[in-house]
Amino acid sequence: MTLAIQDYALLDDAQCDARITAAKASLGKRCVILGHHYQRDEVFKHADFTGDSLKLSRNAANADAEFIVFCGVHFMAEVADVLSRPEQRVILPDLAAGCSMADMANLHKVQQCWTELSQIIDADTDVTPVTYINSAADLKAFCGAHQGIVCTSSNAQKILAWSFAQREKVLFFPDQHLGRNTGFRMGIPLEQMVVWDFTQPFGGLTAKQIHNAKIILWQGHCSVHQAFKAEHIDAFLTRFPETQVIAHPEASFEVCEKAQFIGSTEYILSTIRAAEANTRWLVATELNLVNRLHEECKHEGKNVHFMSPYLSMCSTMFRTDPQHLAWVLENLVEGQVINQIIVPSNEALLAKLALNRMLDVS
Ligand code: SF4
Repeated sequence: MTLAIQDYALLDDAQCDARITAAKASLGKRCVILGHHYQRDEVFKHADFTGDSLKLSRNAANADAEFIVFCGVHFMAEVADVLSRPEQRVILPDLAAGCSMADMANLHKVQQCWTELSQIIDADTDVTPVTYINSAADLKAFCGAHQGIVCTSSNAQKILAWSFAQREKVLFFPDQHLGRNTGFRMGIPLEQMVVWDFTQPFGGLTAKQIHNAKIILWQGHCSVHQAFKAEHIDAFLTRFPETQVIAHPEASFEVCEKAQFIGSTEYILSTIRAAEANTRWLVATELNLVNRLHEECKHEGKNVHFMSPYLSMCSTMFRTDPQHLAWVLENLVEGQVINQIIVPSNEALLAKLALNRMLDVS
């Protein structure tokens, strides 16, 4: 019998907590829970493995369990489905947990971009398509089919270096900021990184701009990371000049310019954990991670502050709540698989090509 989500809606978090723990114990090694760093605490604490997209995609590829419950967002569950074995089943507790940045690029628009680029340059010969892992599986398949590759915020520099070793230009989607911040740190001047406005013919670019470009950046962004502003850093430093600033590369160029450290969530965690006691940090990434890190490090006298004065959290990650997690786990105990994520096999094959290239390079 399939249990209905309506029966979980009125459970409080403590009731869910007990039921999640019992369902996990009953499923034992048959089920593994992966939790992204941006998950809320009530869900995060039940994860068997935690990490950023790269670490979790490796966990998914190496998992033995029959069921992989992904407490993250839709594209992450797709990656887990592509990298796991055919008999394993990947479950996303709330199917509405998407990623607004991933939704800023779609296959139709990217194919249109490729066609338009091909009218000006020889895209197949000159351009390596690189998709950030925050993208739908069909875009990873597009990269697989066009000798392209996937990247994460942990390995973007290595992936761009690999891409330039294949061809002279890169089409980078969907996050313009990760592409720009990474390219700039590799010595590519800003004027050689142009933005492709997918609402305009030819991305709103001239033939000359396309010929001169090293990286063509898709006009996408993460709204959570756009909440951080250079003026937040200036204001904070006025009060606490000793502060060290660390930013995720999805933040704007202006924020990253003012940061002493730039890197993925794993990098942010390891840098602050390894820092000297009694240091102060201003962090540009999602609120749940920053709050947890502050709690973890405060006994060493470290102060870890969220960069924005306004609340900015990933609302789609937040959709995965203890009620949904209890619901999918108890259904598994009952022998019912709900909210399974399945990437069509033809798409999965090509997406896996691009993902495996990434795993090999990084
Ligand atoms: S933080 Fe931004 S990029 Fe990450 S899942 Fe949320 S919307 Fe997507």
